Amino acid sequence: MTNQELRQKIEYHNLLYYQKNKPEITDAEYDILKQKAVELGEEIEVGSELDSRFGKVKHSEPMLSLGNAYNEQDIEKFITKVKKLLNVSKLEIMCEPKVDGLSFSAVYEDGRFIKAATRGDGDYGEDITKNIATIKDFPQVLSGIKDRLEVRGEAYIRNDDFLKLNENNDFANPRNAAAGSLRQLDPNITANMPLKYFAYSLLGGEEKTQDEVLNRLEGLGFCVNKHRFLAKSVDEMLQFYNGIYNCRCNLGFDVDGIVYKMNDLKLHSKLGSTNRAPKWAIAHKFPAAYGKTKLEKILIQVGRTGVLTPIAKLTPINVGGVIISRASLHNYEEIKRKDIREGDIVVVARAGDVIPHIVEVDKDSRLPNAPKFIFPEVCPECGSRIEKVDGETAIRCSGEFTCKAQIIEKLKHFVSQEAFAIIGLADKQIEFFYDIGLIQQIPDIFTLEEKLKEFDLEAYNGWGKQSIANLLNSINSRKTISLDRFISSLSIRFIAQGTAKLLAKHYVFFENWQNSMMKLQCYESFSELMSIDGIGEKTAESIRSFFSNQQNVNMLNNLVSHLNILPVDNNKRSSALSGKIIVFTGTLKMSRDEASNKARSMGAQVSSSVSSKTHFLVVGQNPGSKHKKAVELGIKILREEERLSLVANS
Ligand code: AMP
Ligand code: ZN
Repeated sequence: MTNQELRQKIEYHNLLYYQKNKPEITDAEYDILKQKAVELGEEIEVGSELDSRFGKVKHSEPMLSLGNAYNEQDIEKFITKVKKLLNVSKLEIMCEPKVDGLSFSAVYEDGRFIKAATRGDGDYGEDITKNIATIKDFPQVLSGIKDRLEVRGEAYIRNDDFLKLNENNDFANPRNAAAGSLRQLDPNITANMPLKYFAYSLLGGEEKTQDEVLNRLEGLGFCVNKHRFLAKSVDEMLQFYNGIYNCRCNLGFDVDGIVYKMNDLKLHSKLGSTNRAPKWAIAHKFPAAYGKTKLEKILIQVGRTGVLTPIAKLTPINVGGVIISRASLHNYEEIKRKDIREGDIVVVARAGDVIPHIVEVDKDSRLPNAPKFIFPEVCPECGSRIEKVDGETAIRCSGEFTCKAQIIEKLKHFVSQEAFAIIGLADKQIEFFYDIGLIQQIPDIFTLEEKLKEFDLEAYNGWGKQSIANLLNSINSRKTISLDRFISSLSIRFIAQGTAKLLAKHYVFFENWQNSMMKLQCYESFSELMSIDGIGEKTAESIRSFFSNQQNVNMLNNLVSHLNILPVDNNKRSSALSGKIIVFTGTLKMSRDEASNKARSMGAQVSSSVSSKTHFLVVGQNPGSKHKKAVELGIKILREEERLSLVANS
């Protein structure tokens, strides 16, 4: 990446972050970009350009960013440097949680609140006076104050408020929600948002230390974070850091690190600032990919094939910009191995879009009498006996046809994108139709139209003539389906899309597949199934067990009577080569047979001579006269590698 590309990239993400409140990358990824820019000597502005829909406010003093530190050494270095610059041996440091929200400045004249602004580009901010005024507990009048006083602080939204708010919104995290709430043109909207704030700085006061500033702010009626600590050594700073890190989830709001500030305000002017950040303060960031929080409860989820999956319900915590309130516990073995118990303080990790998982348990903080987690002995959804299959870690509910959770999950899968893709039947509707008794098993979907003739669906909230017609239309439009999709829609254990494709390709016609599967107790059929590359014994057993159950067989027959299942056409699969005439010349890396077979399997027709109908000539080493002819005819010539990439990309 050139400097310019890097700058453009940062500007793009700035725009998403500051103006649209919809970041596409995590804070940690953004920090890496910024770090790179700093290394390349690029000056990066703290904010982005101002949103012109708001009035512009010039800050009396720039609102800067903070330098970042990520570990103890960074902190040691920072303190040593400051001591050296000031030529002192002792320092007092005010430690404050770095609340992850949106900073603002608020100006008072003679004790009256007159103006508030966002940080903006650092020099100018956006006018959010009316919006700040709507925040509860934000003082509009300060008694006994003369002249100009400026208060700076952080507006934020609590984690629980965020989750509630997001039931009808789509904010990435509480900070974006806070920014989105505050930067509203209509302050009435802001007024309905659960915004809170902490004040942490005061310009124009007489105070001599940050400690005095915070006390004064409190005295004036501002909300000030009660978590703060005046440290006299690096050890004490780190103690505070660890203390907050460990109890972060109990705060109820996002904290992404600790800000250390020189307590003595005289030192602020002595040390000064760069144009990005003050030299008298530093932010000690919490690690981005991990978070420590409380595991409130272990929930057991029943999947569509009956597998019981434990899920950790967590006290919500921000991990790298995303609020995490659940983590996967994989299976019972995992809980046993890590000795995870309800009420534990745990470290959760998140990487990319993967479901967060639990890295470790903080056993020191566990109460001595905390009981071990006992896995339920019956299905928590339906009370059926649970079974553990030999050689598998999974534990399953045995109530295949009676377990509501399993049935509903199967229905949801059947209509999902990867199966029948029926628009208008999302999870919510499936649950609804199940509960009112209209769809209780898969074939019911296709008899819905019949049933609705004698059922007043319009009596239910949310259903009108049009929405019913739309739903029936979309069901009817999905009655034709390819065999592989059909097979994978059935929720047979171990048969997902990939395996379903293998089966469809082998058996081609539905009737053929069904007949063969009905006879899996016979050696021949079973070994035919096992002979398919990619089908193992577990899968074969699972299919056998599915077809040996009369309820499944009836369901299948019923279902099929409504459908048109398309056979697999093994010859005409679409690829970049399908339908194309291809000729080889010269010595190829593969044998000629191998190359021809590959091409045919991709749907191409292989010819031995070049004519005007030829689409591609693939050339190897020392090509012969065919090459010359192809050039003359203007036929597309591919080197062998190119042909391979065509194949790979199709
Ligand atoms: P950053 O923009 O991440 O480099 O960090 C600077 C920002 O941290 C400031 O603009 C504030 O919005 C925010 N911040 C949160 N809590 C505090 C605090 N206690 N003291 C100073 N800045 C804080
Ligand atoms: Zn069950």
